[in-house]
Amino acid sequence: MRKPIIAGNWKMYKTLSEAIDFVKMVKSSIPSTDQVDSVICAPSLFLPTLVKEADGSTLAIGAQTMHYEEEGAFTGEISPSQLEDIKVQYVILGHSERRQYDNETDEGVNKKAHAAFSHHLTPIICVGETLEEREASNTVVKVSSQVGAALKGLSVEQIAKTVIAYEPIWAIGTGKTATAHDANEVCKAIRNTVKEIAGDVAAESIRIQYGGSVKPENVVELLSMEHIDGALVGGASLKPDSYLKLLEAGANA
Ligand code: 13P
Repeated sequence: MRKPIIAGNWKMYKTLSEAIDFVKMVKSSIPSTDQVDSVICAPSLFLPTLVKEADGSTLAIGAQTMHYEEEGAFTGEISPSQLEDIKVQYVILGHSERRQYDNETDEGVNKKAHAAFSHHLTPIICVGETLEEREASNTVVKVSSQVGAALKGLSVEQIAKTVIAYEPIWAIGTGKTATAHDANEVCKAIRNTVKEIAGDVAAESIRIQYGGSVKPENVVELLSMEHIDGALVGGASLKPDSYLKLLEAGANA
């Protein structure tokens, strides 16, 4: 049985005081880590404060991106060792918005995945197709190639601990969600790709989230699907009550 993982991706929203208030409001209501892994991936600027604020609770804090180098002359970047130092636990890699606006490549995502594991960070690796690719029936080819590239050279144990987020680009922030059936089919194809790369045990262990207009109203059905082990949520993770409902669905899945 794979434990569900619900992660909020706050993107470039909230002020620091709003972020602190959010964590203060939710932290005593986060379900046990026996039931669900609960994560908030916040803007980098807020991370040290939120890690301290969430300390002693079951809420884990994640970053939305990082560089793959240990340190160096990379103005504006954040290193894996810096995230480890402040006790961040997760990092989103290869989000479609970063692939689109910040030239994030499959090769870069792979380097970052290796760097994440060297620093005790769990990578949440995002993959997904555009509307054009979906309409040309290229969804599985696209996501399988992204998954293969991202996991290159990782050990079977590391692959088993990775989180993949399947986020169809056309469903992000649009209110359009893939049907639970379609999302499950793509997540199944991702699991098969993992099986070809790393074998049965890793494929059965790896957790695959769905992302793209997930909200309390549709999360239960999505999580009921065999190959969907969680959700990566933008808009609906910004309000405490909505976020807690998503976690509750994860805890009961
Ligand atoms: P929305 O939930 O706002 O569609 O965003 C999805 C997403 O990009 C999460 O990473």
